[in-house]
Amino acid sequence: MDDMGNMHKGTINFLHQLRTVLAYHNEIGIESYPKDSHVSTFLDLEFQAQAPAPVSKATTQVQTRKESEQISKKSLVTLSNIAGEVAVCHACELHKSRMYPVAGRGNDAARLMIVGDWLVGGEGAFPPGQTFGVAQEQMLNRMLTAINLPQVDVFITNVIKCAIPESCQPQANHVLSCSSFLRRQISVIKPEVICTMGMIAARAVLDRPHSLSQLRGKFHDYALDGEHSIPVLTTYHPTYLLRNPEMKVATWTDLQTLAKRMGLQPVAT
Ligand code: SF4
Repeated sequence: MDDMGNMHKGTINFLHQLRTVLAYHNEIGIESYPKDSHVSTFLDLEFQAQAPAPVSKATTQVQTRKESEQISKKSLVTLSNIAGEVAVCHACELHKSRMYPVAGRGNDAARLMIVGDWLVGGEGAFPPGQTFGVAQEQMLNRMLTAINLPQVDVFITNVIKCAIPESCQPQANHVLSCSSFLRRQISVIKPEVICTMGMIAARAVLDRPHSLSQLRGKFHDYALDGEHSIPVLTTYHPTYLLRNPEMKVATWTDLQTLAKRMGLQPVAT
């Protein structure tokens, strides 16, 4: 078809669209138009609305990639949002004793989520990023090295997200108030395995009244949603192990169970 033929076809299409729009306007009670330049703008907009420009395959691929990037960023933002909420939380009376907020440490792709009880703030503040305490984290790092799990694969947090003085003891109502932060972190990270360390952590995650000695050493289920669950192993908190070193043997047995579940090869026995 030559240029003249193309132009003729374009004119017929335009007149057809114009007739459709005028018929529609007539139906909804528009019988006349203002005689100024705005009418052409208005009609152009009508056509654009009725006939969106075709989207090329390349444009669709770029949009899909941008959407994936946005979903990925959304996960990161969600963890950071939770930390932001923790920093200003007044949901329970522990905020009055808060020495500093402790949302947790790690990234949203962590394979293992370690959940402790709470951080006892000392006289001098811990270095930034401490979640369990200096000596406790040194012990924890040795444990992770022993089961051959890189720290980048671990997210560490506590049930109680405020570091509080030794004189404060979290109560059941504080755990209840703070647990929503933990549940949201678990939903964002969706770790392969959760390891609770300490009595409060075990009860908060598993919602069971049993003692730690009854719960430890075997896997339990954390219901992520109606269809999925995450295996949970419970063991002792490093603070307890520092005071009761004889319990390290039992904890090492627990860690080997954890390593086996995650397909890791422990480097020490
Ligand atoms: Fe909020 Fe938890 Fe701190 Fe209570 S302990 S004030 S619920 S962050």
